[in-house]
Amino acid sequence: GHRVPEPLGTIERNPPMSGCIFCKIASHEIPSTVVYEDDLVIAFDDLNPQAPVHTLVIPKAHYENIIDGVPAETLAATMHAVAEVARIKGLDEGFRVISNKGEAAGQTVMHVHLHVLGGKPLGEGLV
Ligand code: 5GP
Repeated sequence: GHRVPEPLGTIERNPPMSGCIFCKIASHEIPSTVVYEDDLVIAFDDLNPQAPVHTLVIPKAHYENIIDGVPAETLAATMHAVAEVARIKGLDEGFRVISNKGEAAGQTVMHVHLHVLGGKPLGEGLV
């Protein structure tokens, strides 16, 4: 049972999840290298980068994954932040966006995040 997303234009703000490392990054309780931030989302550099640019974009509110009822406005803000990261990091040659959903896909932090990868040729393969 997935929760049905809120209709466009309404914002559901889930409370912080205790023990969630990305909730603590979103509230600045744990430091990170912030690339971009607004009311709904924050983007910060990955601790263990897999490319010259490896930035994570997350909603500040807690959702487990990309299909966990993230409101449309929050999804839009997340994609806007991806574009901001690309601009700020100078990813003019291109970049890749990945979101792992579930342990079988490699998700290790259960707070939805988009990996923005770039700064080198990434090749054609996805996995
Ligand atoms: P996943 O495997 O869930 O798709 O991605 C989780 C990502 O979060 C990994 O790339 C990992 O390096 C990163 N990560 C985990 N803990 C922290 C942290 O405390 N700070 C930062 N900046 N990145 C983290």
